[in-house]
Amino acid sequence: MFRQKTINARLGAGLVLWLAVSVCLTGCGQTADDQSADQAVEAAPPPSILIRNGTAVTSEGHQDVDIRIIGETISEIGELAPVPSDTRVIDAKGLLVLPGGIDAHTHLRAAEGFDVVDDYETGTRSALAGGITTVGHMGVDLSGSLLPSQLIEQESALINAEALADMFIHYTVFNPSDAVVSGFPELIAAGQPSIKIFMPHQVGAPFPFPYDDNLADFEKVFLAAASAGLRVAVHAEDADVIRTAVARLTDAGNTTLESYAESRPVQAEVTAVEHAIEMAERTGASIYLVHISTAEAIETAAQDSDAEVFVETRPIYLHLDESRYAAADGPLYVSAPPLRTLEDQDAVWAGMANGTIDTIASDHLGWTPEQKMDPEQTITSFLAGSNNMQVMLPMLFSEGVNGGRLSLERFVELTATNPARIFGMYPMKGTLAVGSDADIVLWDADEERTIRNEDILSNSGFSIHAGAEVTGWPVLTLRRGEVVYEEGKVTAERGSGRLVARKPIGG
Ligand SMILES: [Zn+2]
Repeated sequence: MFRQKTINARLGAGLVLWLAVSVCLTGCGQTADDQSADQAVEAAPPPSILIRNGTAVTSEGHQDVDIRIIGETISEIGELAPVPSDTRVIDAKGLLVLPGGIDAHTHLRAAEGFDVVDDYETGTRSALAGGITTVGHMGVDLSGSLLPSQLIEQESALINAEALADMFIHYTVFNPSDAVVSGFPELIAAGQPSIKIFMPHQVGAPFPFPYDDNLADFEKVFLAAASAGLRVAVHAEDADVIRTAVARLTDAGNTTLESYAESRPVQAEVTAVEHAIEMAERTGASIYLVHISTAEAIETAAQDSDAEVFVETRPIYLHLDESRYAAADGPLYVSAPPLRTLEDQDAVWAGMANGTIDTIASDHLGWTPEQKMDPEQTITSFLAGSNNMQVMLPMLFSEGVNGGRLSLERFVELTATNPARIFGMYPMKGTLAVGSDADIVLWDADEERTIRNEDILSNSGFSIHAGAEVTGWPVLTLRRGEVVYEEGKVTAERGSGRLVARKPIGG
C-alpha cells in the first residue's frame, strides 16, 4: 500500500528498540561537578515505577518484558529487577502492557451554538478510564474571528486548566479568509500542525462553504496547508449529492430521521473522497480522511495516487448498521456520515485488518439522550455524533482482537502508533520504547464486562453501546508516568494534562 510505504519510509531509523536495556538517563556528558550541582537543586529524585511480568505489545511485536519508568519517561525495557529507588512495583502478570491509546478526533467542549455537555475535564476523564491517554480535539471558533494562533492560545490555556489527558488541537477552518490562511505557519510554531475542513455544508458554521460551490477557497486552504507543512483532516461528504437526496425525500414527505441513511447516500462519501484526493494531488496537500464509512470509499482511497492519503474510521461503523434508524431510539445513532449496511461493516473491518484504514477515532460528541432524541429533528436539522471515547477500545478489542479480526499488534498500530505517526508525536507517544513518554495501559484480555450507562464518565451519561457484552478491559492507565486510572477510578488531577508539542509533516 502506498500509505504503509509512506509511513515506514518516514519512520526510517526510528523503529522501536525492543531490548534497549541500558540508557543514559540523566547527567550524560556532564562532569561530576555539574551533576552534584544538579543534585543540589533537585531535592527528590523523580518517582520510579517498575511494571513486571506483563506482555508488552507494540505495532512491531509482543514480548514478555519488564518496563521501568523514571519520572514521565520509559527508562528501561528488559528483564529488570526491582531497585531501592523504585517507588512502586506493579505486577502485570497475565496482563497486556499497551501504549496508551490516542484518539485523534474528538469534539470535547462546547462553543457558541454548539452545546455539547462535556468539557476538557469530563471528556478526558472518560478517555483515561477507557485506556486513552492522548486526545485530539477539533478546535472550533464559530464566530470565525479567531486567527489560528489565537485559537491555539485559547485552547492551550483551557487544557492547562482542565484536561486530565494529554491533548492536541486541529484548527477547524470555517472561514477561509486571507488572514486565517496566512496564519497557518503559526500553527507549526505552536506545535499544532493540522487543520480540519468540512466538504459538505456544516450546520451552524458561520461561513458555510460547501466544497462544490467554493473550489477556489478549498484550493487556497489546501495549497497554504501544503506550503506550511500542515496535515489536512477532511470531512468527506459531497454537498450536492446530499442536497439531491434530501430534495427527493422531502418531495416524498420523508423528512424524519428514519430516512437519515438515505439522505446521505454512499455516493456522497465516494464523490467527496474522489474530489479530496484530486485536490490533494493538485496542491501537494497531505490529507487525512476522517470517519470513512463505506466499502466504496475505502476502495477509492486505497487506489494508487500521487497524494499522501490517510484514512480514519469510527467505531459506529464497526459495531452498528443502518437498521438502527428504524428503531424507536434511532436518533441516538445519527452521525454524519450515517450508519451503513452490513456489507460496508465487513469492508471497514477488512480495511482495519489489511491497512487500507490507518486509524480509528471516536469522534466523541457529548450530547445527552434528551438532546439526541429531540422530536423536532429532521434530515436537514439534527445533532450528529455521540460520546464514545470510554468504550471505543474495549469494544474494538473485544470484537477485533478477541473476535479474531485483528492481531494484537494491529490493534496497537490502529489505536496508538499510527495516530502518533500521522500527527507528529512518534516516538514520543504511540509506542513502548526507551525515551518515550510513559503512556501505558495494563489490559486484561479476559475480563468480561457489560457496558452500562451508569459507568459512563462523559456528562452525556449514556452509551450507544449500553448492554453490549465485551471481553477485554483496561485495568490501570499511566499518563506520562503517573497512575491516572486504577481500580475503576480516575485519579488524575484536573489540569494535569498537557498540550502535546507536535512535529510538522516530515519533521
Ligand atoms: Zn468530528
